[in-house]
Amino acid sequence: MAAGAPLAERLHAVHEGIADASREASRDPAAITTIVVTKFHPATMVRELHDLGVRNFGESRHQEAQPKIAGLSDLEATWHFVGQLQSKKARQVASYVDVIHSMDRDSLATALAGFALEVFIQVNLTEDPGRGGVAPDAIHRLADQVEAADGLHLRGLMAVAPLGREARASFSFVRELSERLVEHVPTASSLSIGMSGDYRDAILEGATHLRIGTAITGNRPVPG
Ligand SMILES: *Cc1c(COP(=O)(O)O)cnc(C)c1O
Repeated sequence: MAAGAPLAERLHAVHEGIADASREASRDPAAITTIVVTKFHPATMVRELHDLGVRNFGESRHQEAQPKIAGLSDLEATWHFVGQLQSKKARQVASYVDVIHSMDRDSLATALAGFALEVFIQVNLTEDPGRGGVAPDAIHRLADQVEAADGLHLRGLMAVAPLGREARASFSFVRELSERLVEHVPTASSLSIGMSGDYRDAILEGATHLRIGTAITGNRPVPG
């Protein structure tokens, strides 16, 4: 894909890539939601993507997302928060997004109670607790907390494939965790896995939600 190719061409190329991987996996691409992650990019790009038919957008930082989304309130769109969420900002973020992909602790479930929100539990696949996400053995406990919180609807699991490991193996592990979660909470069967560099692997392992940034937006401008 040529660097600097127009937005429409990059979007088209990713749609083709998703269609190819779906075919390979014998899956219906219509059952896969592509979230375009627009962090660090201006609201004008969100409008261009919306004109191209995109309806699901992702942001990862409250400071940036709040004013951007407020200025786009005329668009018919679903907003996904994919970044780490500070407890003290959680209720503010919940007031302007529809879906949170980074639920990773009991205190966050408590803080968000009362909002009508779709929630993914983020699983940490590294040994570094600073990466965000719960340890795999803490998923069911947190799922119970989310289910007990008024308004929150648990959709499934979210994960980022760790650098330096084969993405497919990481996603395969998340799929096993997902199968176990579904035995515990039957409606929580969605899987938010797959980014620009590994969405094919994610589709092969059952992704229902892809979070794709640079493959569609082009490189992010250096923040600040
Ligand atoms: C930025 C980001 C993405 C998109 O990453 P790309 O590699 O640009 O596709 C996906 N998920 C999360 C959590 C992100 O922060």
